[in-house]
Amino acid sequence: MQPKELLTLAEEFGSPLYIYDATTIEHQYNRLTAAFSKVENLRINYAMKALSNITILKLLKKCSSGLDTVSYQEVQLGLHAGFTPDKIIFTPNGVSFEEIEEVAKLGVQINIDNLSVLEHFGAKYPKVPVCIRINPHVMAGGNENISVGHIDSKFGISIYQIPHVLRIVENTKMHINGIHMHTGSDILDIEVFLYAAEILFDAAKQFKELDFLDFGSGFKVPYKKGDIETNIEELGKKLTKRFLAFEKEYGRTLTLAFEPGKFLVSEAGFFLAKVNVVKQTTSTVFAGIDSGFNHLIRPMFYGSQHQIENISNPKGKERFYTVVGYICETDTFANNRRIAEIKEGDILCFKNAGAYCFSMASNYNSRFKPAEVLWKDGKGHLISKRETFEDLIKNQVVVEV
Ligand SMILES: *Cc1c(COP(=O)(O)O)cnc(C)c1O
Repeated sequence: MQPKELLTLAEEFGSPLYIYDATTIEHQYNRLTAAFSKVENLRINYAMKALSNITILKLLKKCSSGLDTVSYQEVQLGLHAGFTPDKIIFTPNGVSFEEIEEVAKLGVQINIDNLSVLEHFGAKYPKVPVCIRINPHVMAGGNENISVGHIDSKFGISIYQIPHVLRIVENTKMHINGIHMHTGSDILDIEVFLYAAEILFDAAKQFKELDFLDFGSGFKVPYKKGDIETNIEELGKKLTKRFLAFEKEYGRTLTLAFEPGKFLVSEAGFFLAKVNVVKQTTSTVFAGIDSGFNHLIRPMFYGSQHQIENISNPKGKERFYTVVGYICETDTFANNRRIAEIKEGDILCFKNAGAYCFSMASNYNSRFKPAEVLWKDGKGHLISKRETFEDLIKNQVVVEV
């Protein structure tokens, strides 16, 4: 999107503001399906925890996406957005057995990542097919907070425990219809992904009634100039070849599934905030915005580097700024960043604000969550309203004390 278009939306809807470009989401979806066009049965399940606005879900449904969910409430939202249960997969971690039961009752595909749960579920519902999430113990990506496949990870059933899984299947006569892995975000190296895929194929051979293989996600998207991104086209070529060979060996057609979050929505998102104050100290120039980690926690939470542009002065001379929020504790978006000269009242635009931004927003400091806008057909459509004071107090029960 152009700085001018973004600025107009800030004027129309106020700041701070989240904006999502529909075309980018559709483009990313089509890129992924094109990369795997030689696979007969491809299934993309959007990991909706990245951005769960109902209109975004509907947009992805229109692209013919399925959904990857991690809570009963996400399943409910998905159904509410019009997805049928057969288009939803439930991949929780550490949730109660009752929650898994409730989701299974809706007819949603269950993905189990724990031996005790598998045993319990198999004993109680031997006729309900389930997918198992394996942990291939592959360290993918550089950020330890978002790598979930390594040896100490809480996710998945270790591949070394497959014999135990087979024993449970034997004893309960349950039906394993899918094998899944998700090695975590930020895969830099396709070879690492393909290596993990081999482990998944190996595990899959031991189950005779599979319908699908789910390779999870973790596709890296570029956050700043020069960043490496997962080469989806190359991964498509290499994994397709390997997948088709595996199908032959396995003796039946399988569905190849992915569950991307970031890849589909990260770059589609823009977060706009207004500069309240420019503060020159002895060593630093701070730009303080009308937002904080309550609205965009990723830089403080895991050091994410969101590119920041001054869209009020895009051609201005660049200077160094430390961009901070208004939360009353350390609240830094960027340290010593080159940004076009900032004046109070300017609108800053944070890139890659589609995934894990609004969905992680909170009301800390009793601030309202921002509005969200979908940019489609050259127009901004409000898809969630800015909160009001009523929202802040709606669940509070006032007791006279
Ligand atoms: C979060 C998550 C994803 C999405 O990861 P991205 O890095 O956003 O693509 C996929 N699968 C599972 C099980 C997840 O928990």
